[in-house]
Amino acid sequence: MYTLSTEQLEIQENARHLAQTVIGPRAKQHDIDQEYPWDNVKALTQAGFMGMTIPREYGGLGLSYLDTVLVVEEMAKVCAVTGRIVVEGNMGAISTVMKYGNEAQKQLAASYVTAGDKAAICITEPGAGSAATQMTTRADKKGDHYILNGGKHWITGGGVSKFHLIFARVFDEQGEELGIGGFIAILGEEGLIVGRREPTMGLRSIPETEIIMENLVLGADRLIEPPKGLKRGFAGLMAAYNSQRVGAGTVALGVAQGAYELALEYSQQREQFGRPICEFQGLQWMLVDMSIKLEAARGLIYKAAGNAGDGFPDIAEAARAKIFAAESAIQVTNDALQIFGASGYSRDLPLERMCRDARMFTIGGGTTQILRTVVASQILKRKLPQTRDGYT
Ligand SMILES: Cc1cc2nc3c(=O)[nH]c(=O)nc-3n(C[C@H](O)[C@H](O)[C@H](O)COP(=O)(O)OP(=O)(O)OC[C@H]3O[C@@H](n4cnc5c(N)ncnc54)[C@H](O)[C@@H]3O)c2cc1C
Repeated sequence: MYTLSTEQLEIQENARHLAQTVIGPRAKQHDIDQEYPWDNVKALTQAGFMGMTIPREYGGLGLSYLDTVLVVEEMAKVCAVTGRIVVEGNMGAISTVMKYGNEAQKQLAASYVTAGDKAAICITEPGAGSAATQMTTRADKKGDHYILNGGKHWITGGGVSKFHLIFARVFDEQGEELGIGGFIAILGEEGLIVGRREPTMGLRSIPETEIIMENLVLGADRLIEPPKGLKRGFAGLMAAYNSQRVGAGTVALGVAQGAYELALEYSQQREQFGRPICEFQGLQWMLVDMSIKLEAARGLIYKAAGNAGDGFPDIAEAARAKIFAAESAIQVTNDALQIFGASGYSRDLPLERMCRDARMFTIGGGTTQILRTVVASQILKRKLPQTRDGYT
């Protein structure tokens, strides 16, 4: 288990203060309005929480993934969407560019994120969800540029994020496929179209949209070269995604922790049969089981984030953390609502929002089924192709 340093406890305390005093009181209205919380983005940027993981020479704070998850948990305790914004302002697409990009690409990414932009990562397509390598978006080389065509969906921050990392099959001038690469595109560039917004169950103040590429022309310098080349490009680029998975697990943990704390307090105030309901053993055991899940999820998350060092979190550690935190969050938020009785079911209180928000994390960023396959292939030390012809 990781012992937090004095600096880390300070980061956590600062994040908690901002979350409790500024972010939390706005969460209910943002959920109702379903509008991106620009006010929270401004507060996060001022506090230095966007681009924490970006090295100092690029304008960030040069902090670690573990430092970042401390902030994510505090935000998510009161507002899951704001937790997600911190994740995507420090992990995922940004991790990829800051680790694999060239000098100019790093400068570009850092300038957007440190100014408050939550980068969008564009992988999923209608025909390629879990089977992401079956994506059909293509990038055709023409002289010193590429022309991108295709369509993504369920892109978090579609229409509000400026910086995009788009995964596409790369073809050379002779039409030969070279593998999968990541391209940087900026909102407003001709041919980058924001399509339909999904009417989501939870996490409602952040848009999930289609992102369509229609003859999007990008300079060859917008292609991120994966470390082992385009042939193994998808696996290479997805290594950076392990940080995003740890981040997503942390948002789930935060939502669950927030719901648990509310239930713990309520159970000591609410009286039935002439006694506080926490005096009933049935509820005590529920609260204990919730606390065990939270502690265990936090342990897995700290381990995955803390072991990353200067690289990315380990694929199996990140997957275990996300699976356990995501599944626990669904159970813990539901139990918290149960402890509130009918009032938990009312939209006046945040419990129902927390249940809706928590429901997402077993799906986005790799489903819990797919992540179990990821862990299985690590512990069995063998490839486990899911296609009928054995192609991974
Ligand atoms: C809120 C939200 C935000 C998202 N944000 C982004 C984003 O920013 N960028 C992005 O690119 N994508 C994003 N996604 C997409 C997400 O990554 C996909 O939804 C996910 O990968 C699953 O794909 P799918 O929905 O097409 O499900 P499918 O792949 O169709 O899966 C359907 C079901 O089958 C199961 N299944 C599929 N294959 C297997 C298998 N081999 N073994 C066992 N079970 C299997 C799945 O686990 C699932 O239960 C987001 C999704 C959500 C809900």
